[in-house]
Amino acid sequence: MPVFRGIQKRAWNAGLKTNVNENLEKIVGENFTFMKLFDRISLKNKKWLLFGMLALAVILLALSLYIAQGSGQKYQVTTYSMGSYVQQTLYGPEREETAQKAANQVALLEDLISWRVENSDIQRLNAQAGKDFISLDPATQKILETSLSVCEASDGAFDITIAPLSQLWRFDDSPHLPKDALIQNLLPRIDYHNLSLLEDGTASLKESATALDLGAVGKGAACNAVLDVYRESKISRAVVAVGGSVGVYGKKLFGEPWEIALRDPNGAGSIGIFQIKSGFLSTSGSYEKTFTDETTGKTYHHILDPQTGYPAGSGLVSVSVWSQDGALSDALSTACFVLGTERSLPLLEQFDAQALFITEDNQIYLTRGLEKNFRLNSPSYRLAGIL
Ligand code: ADP
Ligand code: MG
Repeated sequence: MPVFRGIQKRAWNAGLKTNVNENLEKIVGENFTFMKLFDRISLKNKKWLLFGMLALAVILLALSLYIAQGSGQKYQVTTYSMGSYVQQTLYGPEREETAQKAANQVALLEDLISWRVENSDIQRLNAQAGKDFISLDPATQKILETSLSVCEASDGAFDITIAPLSQLWRFDDSPHLPKDALIQNLLPRIDYHNLSLLEDGTASLKESATALDLGAVGKGAACNAVLDVYRESKISRAVVAVGGSVGVYGKKLFGEPWEIALRDPNGAGSIGIFQIKSGFLSTSGSYEKTFTDETTGKTYHHILDPQTGYPAGSGLVSVSVWSQDGALSDALSTACFVLGTERSLPLLEQFDAQALFITEDNQIYLTRGLEKNFRLNSPSYRLAGIL
C-alpha cells in the first residue's frame, strides 16, 4: 500500500506539474496577446486606460475600507438612566467595552446630579440650602457653571432653581394642576441668583426654601460624558442618544453627515432629518410629558415658565438646538422653548448655537446655520422661513 500510495503521489505531482506548465503557457500566451493589443493602442489612449485602471483600484480599495468600517463592526446597545433610554451605536475596535464604560459614566453622572438620588451633589446642596457651602465633584461644578450661564443669558427663562415648582406639578409621577395660590406662593423662590458657585469647587443656595432641578440640562450633559469616553477609546465613530439629546462622534469614511430624525410633535414617526457632522442636538417639546385636567379641559406640559409658574406658552410645540456642547444644547432647547422664536435669536447667537422651531400651527423656522442641514419629509408641516 505505501508503495502504491507513493506512485500515486508521484503521478499526481507529475500531473500537477504538467497542468501548471500548461496554465503558465496559457497565461504567458494570453499576456502575449494582451501585450500585442496594448502595443496597438495609441499613447493617449494608453494613458487613459492606465488612469481608468488606477481609478478603479482606488475605488475598490475605498469600497473595501468602507465595508470594513461599516455594518460588520457595528455595536448597538440601549441602557436606562436619568429616566430615559441611553442608546449607543458604535463602530471600530473595542466598541462593546467602550459602550459599557460610557453607560457606566452616565449612571455615575446621574448619581451626582439627580435631586432624587440619595446623597447626590444636588441632593446635598438642596438639603443645605440656607446653611452651608458644600464641595462638589468637578463634573457637577461644570454642569452648574454651564447652567448658570444660560440662566443669566436667558434672563431667567431657563432657571435651574425651578425645583419647588417642578416638584409641585409632579410631571414625572403624578401630574396634576396645582392650586394657583400654591404656584403664586412658590414663584418668588425660583431665582437662580440664589445659587453661589465658588472657584474652589464649593457651592451653596442662599435661601432655605430654594432647590435645584437639573432635568433640563442633565441628558445633554450625559451626552458630553459619553463622548469623553469615546475620545479616550479606540472606536472610530459613534452616535449616542439620551432621551431627546443626541451626540455624534468621529467621521464617516467619505465625511458624510450623521442623520438624526426629528420626531413628529403631533403624532408618531418623524417629520424630517437633520444632517450633522459634529456636536450635539437636543429637542424640547410640549408633547413629551403632558396631562389634561378634567375641570379646565386644558392640556399641560412639563416646560415651565419661571415668570408665571405655568407651562410655557410661547406658541411653540418643539425646539431643537445644535451646539458644540451637549449640556448647552439641552439647556438652550429648554430656554428657547420658554422664550419663543424671536427672543431666542440673541441667546442662540451668544452661544454660537443653531435652532429649528416648530410652531403650534405647524410652521418650521430655522436659523441660517441649519438651513442646509434639515430635510423636511412631511406634508403636514411647512418650512416657513430662515431666521
Ligand atoms: P426633557 O426633560 O423632556 O428632555 P427639557 O430638557 O426641556 O425636556 O427639560 C424639562 C425639564 O426641566 C422639566 O421636567 C423640569 O424638570 C425642568 N424644567 C422645566 N422648566 C424649566 C425651566 N424653565 N428652566 C429650567 N428647567 C426647567
Ligand atoms: Mg433641555
